[in-house]
Amino acid sequence: MAQHFDYIALGAGSGGIASANRAAMRGAKVLVIEAKHVGGTCVNVGCVPKKVMWYGAHVAEAMNLYAKDYGFDVTVNKFDWNTLVDNREAYISRIHAAYGRGFENNKVTLINGYGRFVNNNTIEVNGEHYTADHIVVATGGAPTFPDIPGAEYGIDSDGFFELREQPKRVAVVGAGYIAVEVAGVLHALGSETHLLVRKHAPLRNFDPILIDGLVEAMAADGPTLHTHSVPKSVSKNVDGSLTLALENGESLTIDCLIWAIGRSPSTANIGLEHTDVQLDANGYVITDEQQNTTAKGIYCVGDIMAGGVELTPVAIKAGRLLSERLFGNMPNAKMDYSLIPTVVFSHPVIGTMGLTEPEAAEKYGLDNIKVYSSTFTSMYTAVTSHRQACKMKLVCAGENEVVVGVHGIGFGMDEILQGFGVAMKMGATKADFDSVVAIHPTGAEEFVTMR
Ligand code: NDP
Repeated sequence: MAQHFDYIALGAGSGGIASANRAAMRGAKVLVIEAKHVGGTCVNVGCVPKKVMWYGAHVAEAMNLYAKDYGFDVTVNKFDWNTLVDNREAYISRIHAAYGRGFENNKVTLINGYGRFVNNNTIEVNGEHYTADHIVVATGGAPTFPDIPGAEYGIDSDGFFELREQPKRVAVVGAGYIAVEVAGVLHALGSETHLLVRKHAPLRNFDPILIDGLVEAMAADGPTLHTHSVPKSVSKNVDGSLTLALENGESLTIDCLIWAIGRSPSTANIGLEHTDVQLDANGYVITDEQQNTTAKGIYCVGDIMAGGVELTPVAIKAGRLLSERLFGNMPNAKMDYSLIPTVVFSHPVIGTMGLTEPEAAEKYGLDNIKVYSSTFTSMYTAVTSHRQACKMKLVCAGENEVVVGVHGIGFGMDEILQGFGVAMKMGATKADFDSVVAIHPTGAEEFVTMR
């Protein structure tokens, strides 16, 4: 006999957990099914361990680049990669425990095992069947490998987090968030790091001020950026090193190769063929604006959603709103996928929200946008011989100069953006920004003083 629940979350990543807990808080009897670790990509092999490594990189930069000019005579005898990894993993274990307590408090049942749909309202896991009136698919995604000879000698971002030894020479291939973040961290921690992008720049869909700022910072400080570099093959040498051959005839010898060329949705092996759920050509789940799939009673949140935004807080918000709609008496609740702030933990860090300048020009016409920008030396580095630039831009549209894009690269942008995000969601104009007294001296004040 199948055990019945009001709600099942297939996948205990950020979206599944958030949705399950919220449903339980609204009185639903909830089951969560997870094949690996609770927390999914974000907690185990994504945002959380990445941010810890990024903070580690900050400590290294503070000591190596800035401490001396602040008067500290620092000698770094050793960097122990494993100490950082151990402390990171211990932190993740504490997060796992906190999730466990959360499930307990909310009376959510957790089953460890690989779940597969048997039909539209039944999932089989560990040989048992579970039914529910409502099921949310939140199985997330996994890194993609390229289809070239020797690709298997490389690792992906999951493999990066498994590294127990710091690679001496490393090539990171890719041009998105993960490539930029991983390359930046490895470089700052002392690996000889090469970032290979197949076009002219990393993050090439970001606002030009951010791309320029990042490329300039890389040219000054590293990692070594190789543009127009398309991998052709990988071979393993007798000494254990790898040779990465490129289409342009060049090659690199490295100890570690990391593929960061994008991610694919984990939808292939969860029995969706036994349901009415439709996937698009790339395996993403087709979903309407209220997270409904094409199967009645099956919903989807997170990285597997066609046309979605692959960010943890997006999955969390969509998951909670879905539960409010199903169990919280909010029939119209739905996620607003417009104006989503996002940060790339690069060196320096990038914060961005809304339209890029080219996007705004296309949407409103060149004559109807006004762009304000500012480039200055971050004050943190103004007293040091090693300087770092901060670049910020506001993109405004229409007569009232509604702020439709906020972009910045430089110290503190990760923490600066959130509040400006609130203002943008409220439809703030440039005059609204200017009406606020600047906090001095900060980088953030530039956003309210631009001329
Ligand atoms: P992305 O899809 O963001 O970027 C991958 C990029 O790699 C592509 O855009 C492409 O850029 C390039 N690429 C694709 N195929 C190849 C290839 N065969 N050879 C070389 N380069 C290739 O993927 P990521 O894996 O970086 O990240 C996935 C998502 O996870 C992100 O979109 C983001 O939403 C999320 N994320 C968010 C983070 C955060 O919030 N800080 C951190 C990490 C991930 P091009 O076309 O320019 O060559």
